[in-house]
Amino acid sequence: MPGSPAAIAGARGPGEIVLPEVAMHLYRPNEPVTVKVTRNEVCTSRKAAGFVRHVEFDVSGTLLEGKVVPGQSIGVMAPGVDAKGRPHAVRLYSVASPTLGEDGAGKVISTTVKRTIDEHWETHRLFLGVASNYLCDLQEGEEVRLSGPNGKRFVLPTDHSAHDYLFFATGTGIAPFRGMVMDLLSKKSDSRVALVMGSPYATDLLYHDLFTRLSAEHERFTYLTAISREKQADGHDPMYVQDRLRTNRDELGAMLSNGRTLVYVCGLAGMELGIFKQMARILPEAALEQYLTVEPQAMSDIESWDRKMLNRQVKHSKRMFLEVYA
Ligand code: FAD
Ligand code: NAP
Repeated sequence: MPGSPAAIAGARGPGEIVLPEVAMHLYRPNEPVTVKVTRNEVCTSRKAAGFVRHVEFDVSGTLLEGKVVPGQSIGVMAPGVDAKGRPHAVRLYSVASPTLGEDGAGKVISTTVKRTIDEHWETHRLFLGVASNYLCDLQEGEEVRLSGPNGKRFVLPTDHSAHDYLFFATGTGIAPFRGMVMDLLSKKSDSRVALVMGSPYATDLLYHDLFTRLSAEHERFTYLTAISREKQADGHDPMYVQDRLRTNRDELGAMLSNGRTLVYVCGLAGMELGIFKQMARILPEAALEQYLTVEPQAMSDIESWDRKMLNRQVKHSKRMFLEVYA
């Protein structure tokens, strides 16, 4: 199974972060594997504004069996051709299943897909994304061509118990954390796990029942939501995920100061800047420098930080794992 042969990412020494050597590119987009869909169901509340589905694939008997870990993605080849008559390009989807798969044996993997539906920017006609709608329309038993797995950096460390974990997700950025949380809670451990999930409305929260149940069952797991366009269930004003660092500062601030915590961020590009700023506002210097190196001038004016400063005046450390895009 993945995770056994350990490779080093980052220097050895106290607090080192060792990532597993995961399988990559077992199937290339030009030679994909054909598998069957075994489940395709809505994973929001029934009243959600967006359409997001949890889709499972039977990969038994293929090279993917037992080789795909949460944090990686798989490629989906939609049938048909694009406007230039070429086969549709591969689209990537984050793996939502735990390391042992949905079935406990690595034979069934899953992803979380949001239908891309909009008005076309130029024609003002209905715009439907090719692969997301293809995936969401697939029925149980239908075939789909997959490539991958892709990605090796946004995964859990080899020794789960060596760290605590703070996960920030917006929208379908929750996919990898579903599998990671299931992995982390499946073993006896003292590691703390906190997940902050952001969505526009409470009805858009993904896998909300699962995380609510897991937080009730595991004292070491904290599940927090951040609803951006309506008040929170507890009456707090609308907020983004990074605002939870302020409202839940006692718990999350303590985690970030304990020298064990790794931070993972997945979802919309833009959220990482907001998280960095909030960390800079609330964390004492000794805690902040575990995650961010900030030039003194930038530190004196946190409110003016912008994306252009990332990896320049504001650099994140190996304790922060980022997977964000527009
Ligand atoms: P496309 O047919 O590719 O259309 C989208 C493109 O069309 C956009 O790039 C944009 O240029 C253009 N476009 C968008 N809106 C309009 C408009 N209104 N008018 C005109 N043009 C427009 N997605 C998920 O749902 N779940 C995941 O877990 C997930 N994981 C990902 C992991 C990685 C590493 C990456 C890189 C992406 C991930 N994505 C995920 C996004 C996914 O790969 C696709 O980009 C997304 O589903 C849209 O693909 P599509 O084929 O449906 O849309
Ligand atoms: P969504 O349901 O629209 O939720 C996104 C939430 O994030 C909203 O509440 C939004 O608030 C909030 N938000 C907007 N700007 C923010 C910021 N700067 N900081 C913090 N929060 C912010 O999300 P979605 O449509 O599913 O989109 C999720 C994104 O994640 C997509 O871009 C998708 O491609 C990406 N994704 C990436 C990966 C990956 O890289 N592996 C995997 C899966 C998904 P408002 O809209 O109210 O402002």
